[in-house]
Amino acid sequence: MRIQKAEIRRLSLPIVNGFGFGLGTVSSKETLIIKLYTEDGLIGHGETSILPLFTEETSTSVIFGIKNKILPLIINRDFDTPAEFEESYKKVEGYLSGKNGVECAFWDIYSQYKNVPLEELFGGVRDKIEVGESIGFKDTVDQTLEEVELRINEGYKRIKLKIKPGWDLILVSAVRNRWPSVNLTVDANSTYKLADHENILISLDRFGLSMIEQPLAEDNLADHAILQKKIKTPICLDESIRSLSNLETAIKIGACKIVNIKPARVGGIVESLKMHDYTESHGIGVMCGGLLETGIGRAFNIALASKTNFIYPADMSPYQFYFSEDLIDPSYIVNQDGYIDVPESPGIGYNIRDDLIEKYTIDKVVV
Ligand code: MG
Repeated sequence: MRIQKAEIRRLSLPIVNGFGFGLGTVSSKETLIIKLYTEDGLIGHGETSILPLFTEETSTSVIFGIKNKILPLIINRDFDTPAEFEESYKKVEGYLSGKNGVECAFWDIYSQYKNVPLEELFGGVRDKIEVGESIGFKDTVDQTLEEVELRINEGYKRIKLKIKPGWDLILVSAVRNRWPSVNLTVDANSTYKLADHENILISLDRFGLSMIEQPLAEDNLADHAILQKKIKTPICLDESIRSLSNLETAIKIGACKIVNIKPARVGGIVESLKMHDYTESHGIGVMCGGLLETGIGRAFNIALASKTNFIYPADMSPYQFYFSEDLIDPSYIVNQDGYIDVPESPGIGYNIRDDLIEKYTIDKVVV
């Protein structure tokens, strides 16, 4: 497959409900849609969701990286496999979510070319994936309880509460008292410090949480390892894990018992697949998270989450929770049992709404 042309579209998407978490509130959203064109007429789509609160990346920096550093290494070159494709720009530092968007576009092409669904190419084993919901900050505990009740009634398999110092024990205790057996987790997005908050983190043990996600600073694996020895609740690392090699470090020093794999945070699907296999061989379960992607980005995450070691419900909110429209039609749905069906057709597995991509485009770069 020879890549002849690439297009990067910068989209501005209105957010219908702001999402508050430990790093701030997302009230507007940009995303990049990457299109790759092959010599023989195949078109692949990938997405780079831009979340400056979560990573250092912005639309401008990612477009710069894709256009000037990644695309020159792939345009007018032949690739037989996604691994070979990814290898060609592996030495480029950074731009992890940009690399994921470009790589996904190639997986889309590869899937169409082989006429094999993504799920099968990734080695998936499930025809549906379990889904949980993540509840952002609300003004009051009661408002949180209302949303939790809604999501439980809608069938979500796991409730994740965003917490931060001062917004933790009272909130978690209220939810746990009302729903003693619901699968409950918390995500701190790096807002605690071991030296200041050890007692609070230990206190969370009494709520029987299935995990606490990223309690401490992302660059502090050592403190996570110390904390994990002091608490029963399994630590799940998210922001800390950006590559297979720091995942290996985290596991070797005992910094976590679960890992949140987000392809956009680790530079793509090829890296995610390696992380999946490494964690599985070390008895560490994984969950699939997201970065508020539209359905185009989610399609790849859904296929990935069908692999064996994704034993925890995925973060995969339907678009209506954040956006007024999705870029795929029909969008995926979470059924009453809390599952999303994994698409069985080649390519991304959903129809892409080119008209909506056009509608929300604010800038376009063609290479
Ligand atoms: Mg997280």
